[in-house]
Order: sequence, then C-alpha cells, then structure tokens
Amino acid sequence: MFICTGYAAQSSDAPLAPHSFQRRDPGPTDVEIEILYCGVCHSDLHTARGEWPGTVYPNIPGHEIVGRVRRVGAEVKAFKVGDLAGVGCMVDSCRTCSSCVEGLEQYCLVGNTGTYNAPDKHTGGVTYGGYSKAIVVDEAFVLRLPENLDLAAVAPLLCAGITTYSPMRHWKVGPGQTVGIVGLGGLGHMGVKIAHALGAKVVMFTTSESKRGDAMRLGADEVVVTRGPEAMKPWAGKLDFILDAVSADHDINAYLALLKRDGTLVQVGAPPSPLSVQVSNLIMGRRRFAGSLIGGIAETQEMLDFCGKHGITADIEMIPIDKVNEAYDRMLKSDVKYRFVIDMATLAAA
Ligand code: NAP
Ligand code: ZN
Ligand code: ZN
Repeated sequence: MFICTGYAAQSSDAPLAPHSFQRRDPGPTDVEIEILYCGVCHSDLHTARGEWPGTVYPNIPGHEIVGRVRRVGAEVKAFKVGDLAGVGCMVDSCRTCSSCVEGLEQYCLVGNTGTYNAPDKHTGGVTYGGYSKAIVVDEAFVLRLPENLDLAAVAPLLCAGITTYSPMRHWKVGPGQTVGIVGLGGLGHMGVKIAHALGAKVVMFTTSESKRGDAMRLGADEVVVTRGPEAMKPWAGKLDFILDAVSADHDINAYLALLKRDGTLVQVGAPPSPLSVQVSNLIMGRRRFAGSLIGGIAETQEMLDFCGKHGITADIEMIPIDKVNEAYDRMLKSDVKYRFVIDMATLAAA
C-alpha cells in the first residue's frame, strides 16, 4: 500500500477538499499511473452530492483519467513505464459472464467495478477515482491513448467520448441520417463532434441561446434553441436518431415527437428523478426510447483510435483542483464550455 492524495467529498453537502488515502501497490497484472489530468463529469457531481442513491463517503470522484505509467507488475504486457495511459469509468468486471465475454463489461451481470464509489475487491472498501495523484488498475482496463492529440483534451473522451460514441455505433449512425443531440454540455459536445465525424447531419438542441455559434463550430448543421414548443415544430418526424444528454428533469415527449417512424431516442443523461413518457409518442410511429451506459473496453479503445484518426478532442476549460467546487456550481447553471479538466499538478502531494 502507499499513501495517495486526492480530493474528496466527506458528505453530500460538504465541498470537496484534500484527503489522503491508501492505494494498493501494483500486483502482477496492474499498472500504476501518475494522473496528469482528470475530466469533470456531471456524474461526479451527482455522486459526490448524493443525488443518486448509494454514495459512500469519503467519495473521490473522477473517471476521465489520463497520465503516465510509473510502475508495472511483472506480468504486464501492454504497458511499460513512461507510456501514456487512460482509465475511464470502469476498473474491473467479472470477465466471465455473457456480457463480459462479448466485450460489454459495462453491462457485467454481476456489476462492473466503477472507477469510484464501487466495492473494491482488493481493499474491501470502495474504489477511489481520478481526482488524485495516482491510480492502480489492472492492465485489462487501461486504455492506450493517441499520441497526436492534446493530452488534457483527451481526458474527457474516457467518459463523455465513449458514452456518446457507443450508442451511435450500436444504432449505426452514419451518412444519410439526421441525428439530434440534446444538451450542449460535456457529453453533448462530444456527441456533436462524433455524429459529424460519422457522417450524419446533426441538429443540436440547446436551452442556451449563447451556445448557438459554438454548436455550429463543433459540427452541428442546424441549431434549435428549445425555449418554447414552437422552436421544435419544424423538426417533427424528421430525425432518425436522438441522443439525449440532459442531466436534469425535462420534457422527453417533445423530443420523441421529432423521431421518424422506427426512430430511436437514446437517453444517456441520467436525471435523478424519473422522466414521464407519453406512450402515444412511442405507439405512433413504432418509436423506441432506449438507454445506454458508457461503452466496453474494446469499444473505448476503438473510440480513442477513431478520435486520434479524426483529430477529435474535447473543448476544455482547465482548472486547478481547488476550483472543482466552483466548477460543479457552474455545471448546474449549464455554464460549461464544454468540459472542465483538472490539472493534477495543482494538487499537492502527500
Ligand atoms: P453537463 O456538462 O452538465 O451537461 C448537461 C447539459 O444539459 C447542460 O449543459 C445543458 O445544455 C443541459 N441541461 C441542463 N439542465 C437542463 C434542464 N433543466 N433542461 C434542459 N437542459 C438542461 O453534464 P454531462 O457531464 O454532459 O452529463 C450529462 C448527463 O449524462 C448527466 O446526468 C450524467 O450523469 C450523465 N452521464 C451518463 C453516462 C452514461 O453512461 N449513460 C455517462 C456519463 C454521464 P444546454 O445549455 O445546451 O441546454
Ligand atoms: Zn462520466
Ligand atoms: Zn461480467
């Protein structure tokens, strides 16, 4: 074990603050990564502030982790000291169930091991995430990073990138399709970039008039500012696929009505309270309302390689770690352009 420093929430209403804790030394198949940057996901906020059930305190969030390998176990094959490495939302799974065997570890039937706030098989406690100086992860859950991209701006690909890439691949988004992206935050802005790179026509739905120009620059072909139902009417029945990345309660029915026959709305945003679905919106047109959780490890690697090839990174605002509470408050006001990334050099070592 070694002492590591991080930033933790001690309770649902306490701001995150420095916290020392123990990490395991790397075992035979483990990689120890010095964390250089960590993205700030809205899921970190939902968890740290106890908006979803089950947060164990102290809670150290962070699952968009990039850094350099500083120690490897004796049996590690894919990484050596000094390599760039990334860790996303999972650090383990059972590896034997039907989902794991299919490379869908996120849907592991016994539950994947989340990067934070999940039972830790090694320590018996819970896992601690990337708002910290270092992390130790089995190499099977460590990603190789493209060398040609800005490292800090790669961090958000590990959650926001894969969470938008995976459903678009599953539902075969591509040329000839019109795709709606709802909510221009961390996930939404990656969704626009990836849908555009996959060759679809992209319609961005945002509540923020101020983001109109950015949406076009990010790759949208059309932007709809969704204040009032009139704005959406021209798009009724026109969309093949919608990715909804909104973090708060909102009227899902207004979007279901925009789908073509047999179109699919995939919910990736995870508001804490239930959304109300008017079923006639599904019945009329055999439309589908679906969900999707991050992506498997092989698919995450595929997404990173895709982003390397297409020069895709997140648009980031770098922050020192002591600004993370302020970043959470800004995230709640939809004031993110378009992902906060923590510069881990600003966290004092233990
Ligand atoms: P974010 O950066 O805060 O973006 C959320 C965006 O939603 C905001 O920028 C805003 O966009 C829009 N929005 C916020 N409140 C709204 C409201 N009341 N009505 C309508 N629109 C609203 O959050 P994020 O990190 O992208 O995460 C988004 C959600 O996805 C969170 O719930 C997160 O937990 C979840 N998530 C799910 C997965 C998964 O695997 N399914 C993975 C990661 C995150 P506009 O200003 O454009 O309206
Ligand atoms: Zn996330
Ligand atoms: Zn499994």
